[in-house]
Amino acid sequence: MTIKQLPQDLVNRIAAGEVVERPANVVKELVENALDAGARRIEVTSEGGGRELLRVTDDGRGIPREELVLALSPHATSKIASLEDLESVATMGFRGEALASIASVSKLRLRSRVPGSEEAWMVRADGGPPGAVEPAAGPPGTSVEIRSLFFNTPARRKFLKTDPTEQARISEVVQTIAMANPACAFTLTLGTRRTLELPAVDDPRRRLVALLGAELADELIEVDFEGAGATIWGLAGTPEIARPTAKRQRIFLNGRPIQDKAIQHALREAYRGLVVPGRHPTVVLFIELDPRLVDVNVHPTKTEVRFRDSGAIHQAVRHALRAALKGRDLVPTLELETGPAASATTSAPSSTAGDRPSPSAMPPGLAPGPVREFGPTDRARPVEYRRLAEDLARPVAPADALVPGIRRDHRILQVHAKYLLVEDPDGVLVVDQHALHERVLFEELVERIRSAPLERQALLMPDVIEVDEAAIEALELLAELVGRIGFDARPIGPRSISISGVPSFLLSRNVEPGPFLAELLGFGVEQGRADDPEALLSEVLDMMACKAAVKAGDRLGDAELATLLARREAIERSSNCPHGRPTSLRIPLAELDRRFGRSS
Ligand code: ADP
Ligand code: MG
Repeated sequence: MTIKQLPQDLVNRIAAGEVVERPANVVKELVENALDAGARRIEVTSEGGGRELLRVTDDGRGIPREELVLALSPHATSKIASLEDLESVATMGFRGEALASIASVSKLRLRSRVPGSEEAWMVRADGGPPGAVEPAAGPPGTSVEIRSLFFNTPARRKFLKTDPTEQARISEVVQTIAMANPACAFTLTLGTRRTLELPAVDDPRRRLVALLGAELADELIEVDFEGAGATIWGLAGTPEIARPTAKRQRIFLNGRPIQDKAIQHALREAYRGLVVPGRHPTVVLFIELDPRLVDVNVHPTKTEVRFRDSGAIHQAVRHALRAALKGRDLVPTLELETGPAASATTSAPSSTAGDRPSPSAMPPGLAPGPVREFGPTDRARPVEYRRLAEDLARPVAPADALVPGIRRDHRILQVHAKYLLVEDPDGVLVVDQHALHERVLFEELVERIRSAPLERQALLMPDVIEVDEAAIEALELLAELVGRIGFDARPIGPRSISISGVPSFLLSRNVEPGPFLAELLGFGVEQGRADDPEALLSEVLDMMACKAAVKAGDRLGDAELATLLARREAIERSSNCPHGRPTSLRIPLAELDRRFGRSS
């Protein structure tokens, strides 16, 4: 074959394949153009999943009659004129190929009226070069109408999903853009349904709440943070409204939606232990950063970025979220609203089934998720472990050290040897003794290991455990971690490990160290998580905390109860166990009053 220059319409169509893969991409380009034109109100309409019709109408600065044809030509843009402009471009699009590309694969009508002018003008293109400019009628601003998208590229058309799927993607695009542009009003009409109606707002958070759902307003915490040369603001959901998918997580960098592994990791870190695995917190974050500290053109659709200092951004995001979460009491409220309220006039018996909160009435965050629990440990210990260590468990806090909130004279009632009932200023707390103790021990271990390895108790007689070969390998891989948590262990054969020192902590809590180490190594093999040592350490400390914590079924003395609750006050994130399940639920006083017909 001889070399030939491709005809322009073919070049456009190839380019279209990159820019417009599906209707949602078209919507994105058109809405971004409208924003670049200074629109204050943008209306988006879609029919047939965007295949039949897409229309974006704005009230922006319009396109003069003599530029209408140019706007549809490839590499025609009003946004950059020189190479230098590339460095500082602040508009959404600037490559000047969107309209030309879209026009090459659809039947397009571009109508525009420049504000102040009496006339509107229109130009059409049906998969080829634009026709002549014709007079039209319409308000100031621009309207782009796309019909029969991909009519001349059947392969692309076939590749589209069902109408609802394409509509969902369109809706997603509009919502994302709307989040970042609160000063512009948006409407979205899908078929005959108006699915979005967003007025312009001054406070950007109001736009976010409108999009996330007004019913969540109470569960959204404001984020406001400055550090690492960045300003980070937005909303962070309480653990209660975490979801099975990450759909309600949005990160914007200088107004553009981005996807970034480091930031996602920071987000998980910030919520670690507050949501159960498999659930994703609701977070919308806006990061404002000097554009010179980031390269946004790594990816053609510009959702991937490269930070100059990705570590600093990671830390800043984590701090921002942690600070926000810390400022909030995260104890979930037990909703009792399923039953009728007692009142002087109703004589309904108070013990109908509806009175009891059914599991389905629980807030979503409380529904049991897929959690990994560690198996029970055999409490019987070999002789040599017994009382070798001084008791590391913190001495019982003197009663007057109890923190405000849990007053000394407040009675704590242990029920069914697994829950604690306690009065707090807003009502009654129901505490899961194991979950809370686990969280308390976990936080204390994390605190201790930050400064030094955990304390070790030497054994007079080394203990030898039999394991499989994978565990021997794991011991080599995790040697540093195993030492840090207080073990002195080394392989003495293909399947034997000699333990000559054990974590004092485990002894003090009656946990048998040998089987613990075997389980830890087995877990290390299974996870193979050497790539995220911090996460693995956290898992292992949690494993220690879980084994060491009081169990359901353990009867606790008054002093133990008091200590446990005092420690609850002293630690961060006491609301959830390290697996992310709640440690406590609150029954609000107001709710009790309502139910007993007291108008408090
Ligand atoms: P780009 O946005 O990369 O410049 P496009 O092909 O998307 O390229 O648009 C080409 C040009 O058409 C823009 O630079 C702009 O001048 C003009 N234009 C497109 N849409 C609008 C609009 N809604 N309002 C005003 N001008 C527009
Ligand atoms: Mg554009």
